[in-house]
Order: sequence, then structure tokens, then C-alpha cells
Amino acid sequence: MPRRVPVLENILGANDRLADENRARLDQACVLGINLMASPGAGKTSLIERTVRALAGKLRLAVIDGDIATSLDADRATAAGATAIQINTGGECHLDAVMVQGALQQLDLFHLDLLIVENVGNLICPAAFRLGTHHNVLIASVPEGDDKPYKYPGMYRGVDVLLINKVDLLPYVAFDMGRFQRGVELLNPGVATFAVSCRTGEGLSAWLSWVEAAVAGRLMDTKGPQSSTASQ
Ligand code: MG
Ligand code: ZN
Repeated sequence: MPRRVPVLENILGANDRLADENRARLDQACVLGINLMASPGAGKTSLIERTVRALAGKLRLAVIDGDIATSLDADRATAAGATAIQINTGGECHLDAVMVQGALQQLDLFHLDLLIVENVGNLICPAAFRLGTHHNVLIASVPEGDDKPYKYPGMYRGVDVLLINKVDLLPYVAFDMGRFQRGVELLNPGVATFAVSCRTGEGLSAWLSWVEAAVAGRLMDTKGPQSSTASQ
């Protein structure tokens, strides 16, 4: 027991150093990175498909798909029009910075604007491992129930954006939006929240606007508002 805490700290410390390297690589290439997290079946891949289809004409996109097995999700992202790299974690229930570093090496970052990393479906440990991306985005979904912020506070605390997916199912499922949002507010007051349906398309334009603004903001941060040409 006394030895476990330092070991965990060392693992997370090493991960943080690699995450910083990943961030530097993205910044150098002027790429906005999004770490997309959710439980299995909440709609990560469906959101990626919608996002790629909507933005592929405006932004250069790539997707890194983390799954325990198969390339099903990367295949869907590719079919939607993105460059996609599949990471099979071989049983690990989260992505870490070293896995993402390996995937970044396979991408031509200088010809990308947006990188979406689809984490392994899991509401616990993905929150503990920084990847080097700029934003943590969480998808909750109506059929999961309104108690998830209360049961998985670590995940809700650390995110910059929250999507509530499958709102088309609200009439059929016992999901109290007020209770859910009160739980979120306790953990992460004022977090940007979008209620969407990846099936019907409802609410997605607000999410897409957020993504486009975030990419534009990254360009401003990296190159400055006056410059229009890449300096590196
Ligand atoms: Mg998926
Ligand atoms: Zn894990």
C-alpha cells in the first residue's frame, strides 16, 4: 500500500511529460487537438462522423481512434472523409500519451487543422491521463441516466465541453435534465454544454460552431492575429 502511490505518481509524471511533447508537436503544426471521452455507446463515433461530414470541406481533419480491439470506428471515420489512425490498446481501458505519440508520428500534422482523438469508452481512467490535446470533451447520453455526474465526478470535473447526446430519446427514457444539470453544475460550473442528437442532427450546429471557433482561436494563438502565413 505505501509503495503504490509513488508508482502511480511516476506513471502519471512520465505520461505528463509525453503529453507536453504531444502538445508541442500539435502547436508547432498549428493543429487543434480534441480528446473525446464517453462511456461505450454514448455516441463518440457518431459525433465524429457528423463532425467530419459537416466540416471536411472547411477544415483538414484527422481522427485517432482508441479501442481495445478492432478498427470498426476508424473505418467509420475514414468512410466519413477523415484520415483515421486506429490504436488498439490490447486491453488497456484508456489512451495514454505514448499511444497518441505513436499515432501522431503516422500523421502529416502540417497538413491538418483539427485532430479528434476518440478515447476508449470508459468514464473512469481516461480522465487521469493527459494526451496533449487542447480540449477535453465529454459526451453523455440520455439512455445512460441522469445520475452519471454524481457517480463519475472525476470525468465531469475535468472537461471543457459537455455534449448531451440522444436528446431525441428524452420522451421515451426516464432522464431528468434538471437533476443531470444540477450535478454537472456542482462539479464544473458553467461548462459549455450542447444538447444534441447525432441521429436527427438536432443541436449539432452549435457544437460545430464551437469547433470552428476553437480551431480559429488556435490559429490566432499560434500565429497571431496579423499573420496569415505559417512561420514554421
Ligand atoms: Mg466509438
Ligand atoms: Zn484505464
